[in-house]
Amino acid sequence: MKPFNQTITYTSQGGQQIQLKWLASKRNKHIRISVAAGKVRVSSPPRIKWPMIEQFLRQQEAWLLAHLPNLTQSKSTDSNLLFQGESYKIRLLKPPQSKRVWLENGVCYVAPLRPEASAAPRTLERWLKTQAVDQLTPLFLTTAKQMEEKVDHLRWRDTRSRWGSCSSSGEIMLSWRLIHAPTEIARYVIVHELAHRTHHDHSSKFWQLVEKFNPAYKLHRGWLKRNGHLCQTPII
Ligand SMILES: [Zn+2]
Repeated sequence: MKPFNQTITYTSQGGQQIQLKWLASKRNKHIRISVAAGKVRVSSPPRIKWPMIEQFLRQQEAWLLAHLPNLTQSKSTDSNLLFQGESYKIRLLKPPQSKRVWLENGVCYVAPLRPEASAAPRTLERWLKTQAVDQLTPLFLTTAKQMEEKVDHLRWRDTRSRWGSCSSSGEIMLSWRLIHAPTEIARYVIVHELAHRTHHDHSSKFWQLVEKFNPAYKLHRGWLKRNGHLCQTPII
């Protein structure tokens, strides 16, 4: 019987995908795992089936993960991030990296400080919130100036159902998730909320005011209706 040799992917309990070489041969008496030069190898006697190997890996998982830092540094995900209307493929990087999140050539790299699976989405969300505040606050202030609205502060919220609001006292709240949308869409929401400082309803006078500062508002409103669901942090 020829030795059997194949590359197989093991998924850890934390969801990490680990590629390993599995070698089954008559010369092996037991299942063994080894990590060398960043590669994981499993050897087993020929009669052993994959579920048994998997069970063995589960039992040895703590040991295996502890020996993994030298393994592949990046993992691609099936998720895409919509950032200011552009789509980025998400890649997860293992710590330590000099930055937590960055965009490069159509890829969004996420490098959480901690290895747990839950750390990556939290890292990405935190970064998105900061980006929203840093990039959309100046847009808000410029737009307010154009509309001759004196607003000195803006609140950022995490609202999934509302992109923004304007209280009866004229205080404006925006959802940081607008950072997912193209800038002109975020600007439409800004114009919309600022116009509510003059008209607290959706009357024709209100829409006339919106149109004055955003002539393509109907297009933008339509975009939000159709694509609002894409303005969510992807599951990674
Ligand atoms: Zn409104």
